[in-house]
Amino acid sequence: RAKDAGRNRLEYYEAAMNAKAVQRLQLENDLRSALAKGQLTMYYQPKVSVSSGEVVGMEALLRWSHPQIGFVSPADFIPVAEESGLINEIGDWVLHQVAMQQRIWLSQGYRIVPVAVNLSVRQFGQKNFAEKIQSIVRNVGIPTHFIELELTESMLMDIGGDSIRVMDQLNEAGFDLSLDDFGTGYSSLSRLKLLPMKSLKIDQSFVRDIDTDENDEAIVNATAVLAHAMEMKVIAEGVETQAQLDFIRDLHCEEYQGYLFCRPVPESIAVTYLQRESAI
Ligand code: C2E
Ligand code: MG
Ligand code: MG
Ligand code: MG
Repeated sequence: RAKDAGRNRLEYYEAAMNAKAVQRLQLENDLRSALAKGQLTMYYQPKVSVSSGEVVGMEALLRWSHPQIGFVSPADFIPVAEESGLINEIGDWVLHQVAMQQRIWLSQGYRIVPVAVNLSVRQFGQKNFAEKIQSIVRNVGIPTHFIELELTESMLMDIGGDSIRVMDQLNEAGFDLSLDDFGTGYSSLSRLKLLPMKSLKIDQSFVRDIDTDENDEAIVNATAVLAHAMEMKVIAEGVETQAQLDFIRDLHCEEYQGYLFCRPVPESIAVTYLQRESAI
């Protein structure tokens, strides 16, 4: 009987695993056609100056509206895109889309702020990656400094030996680089010094309880001191309350993003943050 129960459990797990694998394969197939079917769109979230309250940048965030499932979070489909290799095609599309958006905003006379694009580790490993994205942006006809690139800290551990060279190439091509989700990986501080990063984004997990958790406050403080010593700007992610904003101001973070100011929004709303003061 015990043996039977064991076998049943095993069968149960196998069935569940199968269902999961099938689901994943389905998601991968759907994602493969999502681009062609126009189901992917970009949302934008402002980056705000802590001192002036002005919008000084944006981050482009991918959205997928699936015809059956509805909205699928990037946290769920980016890993699928990475494992299947689809991320390279999607990544090119994202960059092209954002560059086109900047060109439209420019031609319509809006104030231009850099728009940040998130990169995946797999994209970074492509041959001639720096040349490729440079040519995507140049072909659209905007300067590279209109685009910022966000790399996650955990990426730094995965990418190969000449990753620093690629970063230098991107930097020399005029893209500002920013280190995303800082504090969640294990990058050594000595390594950080070698990277051509303009800014460092403190992960939202350290911001969430900053007004009540002294450890989080200490971590954010130390990170900001370190970043400033390396001449990097500090951006706090996930600021949802005024109390959190007050803390990150006291800790000398230059910019923030979060629901307190604005959620990621479609282009039609993002553009309202780029309106010029009317000239008198
Ligand atoms: P990320 O780059 O760290 O983006 C920040 C995430 O925090 C976004 O989630 C954003 O919507 C969310 N967020 C912003 N403010 C707040 C806040 O105040 N509170 C809370 N709780 N969350 C906030 P989202 O849009 O779901 O994206 C998740 C992740 O997916 C991103 O993390 C990024 O790693 C990845 N991702 C998104 N778009 C792209 C893309 O185009 N390419 C690649 N490779 N990855 C992307
Ligand atoms: Mg990001
Ligand atoms: Mg982040
Ligand atoms: Mg993140």
